[in-house]
Amino acid sequence: NVHATKPPLTIRLCEPRGFCAGVDRAIQIVVLALKKHGAPVYVRHEIVHNKFVVEALRERGAVFVKELGDIPPEHTDRPVVFSAHGVPKSVPADAEARNLLYLDATCPLVSKVHKQAMRHQRLGRHVLLVGHAGHPEVVGTMGQLPEGAVTLVETAEQVAGLQVPDEDNLGFVTQTTLSVDDTADVIAALRERFPALAAPSSDSICYATTNRQEAVKQAALGTDIFLIVGAPNSSNSMRLVEVAKRHGAADSMLIQRAADIDWNRIGNAATIGMSAGASAPEIVVEEIIDALRERRNVTVDIALTAEETEMFPVMRSLRDTPLTGD
Ligand code: SF4
Repeated sequence: NVHATKPPLTIRLCEPRGFCAGVDRAIQIVVLALKKHGAPVYVRHEIVHNKFVVEALRERGAVFVKELGDIPPEHTDRPVVFSAHGVPKSVPADAEARNLLYLDATCPLVSKVHKQAMRHQRLGRHVLLVGHAGHPEVVGTMGQLPEGAVTLVETAEQVAGLQVPDEDNLGFVTQTTLSVDDTADVIAALRERFPALAAPSSDSICYATTNRQEAVKQAALGTDIFLIVGAPNSSNSMRLVEVAKRHGAADSMLIQRAADIDWNRIGNAATIGMSAGASAPEIVVEEIIDALRERRNVTVDIALTAEETEMFPVMRSLRDTPLTGD
């Protein structure tokens, strides 16, 4: 009996994990746009930070471009979708100037952060955005306001050296996919230096980020290694790798698919923690569990910390597209 010779392994599988409502909606928008308009449908930036999702949509006829100017002139009658991370205001304005039909797949929770930033500005406040430089969501949020109206803050250490126009008129927002704990530290440092700092009227870090981090926190202690399924450019996935390590996993690593498993690092681990970032498809989680089953006698324990019922509907113009033929 082959099974008898395989050493046992327990996988603590976090729930919730993987796709969030915003990612789900963004993918649906591309799929429905392809159904309604036929191929090609252009997508500005990776629709979500996952190459499997991008590849699957490419096979159906989506074409990914960096900027609107990369859409060939003979295809300017084709629709273009903006990614879930959100875009600066200049992008829809540019699409209108080019007469393009655009579909904005910005997650409603990112749009909410945009509105909070605009509200601070309307109330005369300079905006401090806590986030990671260069991430498309940060580019999009900064681009809601005129140049110079937003200052990016990446770390608590940076706070002492910040230069702001008026210390008594400041408001903050954050990126939606940050570490809940690190962000609390940055905000505490900001509040200490700027006691008048105004908060947004609701948290910017989204429910999916919060829930995935909490699930990993609860499951981490006692695991020999924690595997996070996700892409290196996915902010929320990278934060899960850090959270696992910080909350008691002996080791943690990001993997994009089963072929990335570092068997030396797995060694003779008896308990492996597992979760997936908000843009990582469940099929990759299954592929990795299957790869572990080939070598080990696997027991999967579900580590459930929250139930998620969030669902974001697509825009009305796509809602009546029949999903037949799938
Ligand atoms: Fe929206 Fe949060 Fe998902 Fe980002 S991670 S798409 S903000 S629900």
